[in-house]
Amino acid sequence: MDWTTCYIGLGGNIANEHGTPKEHLKNAINAFKNSEYFKNVATSSLYSSKAYGVTDQPDFINAVLKADTNLAPLDLLDFCQNLENRAGRVRLRHWGERCLDVDILLYGNHTIQNDRLTVPHQEILLRNFVLVPLLELDDTLIIHGQKINELTLSHDMKGLTITESL
Ligand code: AMP
Repeated sequence: MDWTTCYIGLGGNIANEHGTPKEHLKNAINAFKNSEYFKNVATSSLYSSKAYGVTDQPDFINAVLKADTNLAPLDLLDFCQNLENRAGRVRLRHWGERCLDVDILLYGNHTIQNDRLTVPHQEILLRNFVLVPLLELDDTLIIHGQKINELTLSHDMKGLTITESL
């Protein structure tokens, strides 16, 4: 069986009947850990980050998860979207609040572009709440030919606080 290292971005800022944003993230992390489709699951700290774009909403909790997966990219996307649905995700507005967002940041060193999936994730190099936890997990990562350790944004804690080390 082929295993590919993937990096998954987790984020959320809305509590609902299924839990707080932190609980949504922890439930998602446990789902990866308990699944036969993943092994060697590692997670960054949990970060609290100021909402981006639409700013009149609660702070986000963000983290990045690293795992080896035996799922093909679109099956991995289905797994991620199923977790979002289980957290009772309601999408109110673009850049707006959500219970849980689960994105595929990297899938090995594959470049994927189709109507459901863009990998590496198209905003991966633009957000410190993605780069800072990614760097925590692997400081040798190279994305689009860029060593993330050499990007200013990977070391920029603006708007970010570590809320919990997992
Ligand atoms: P979002 O607003 O991040 O929840 O975007 C959801 C949509 O983005 C879904 O329809 C996915 O098919 C699409 N998408 C494209 N690339 C990715 C990716 N790398 N990870 C997750 N969703 C993606």
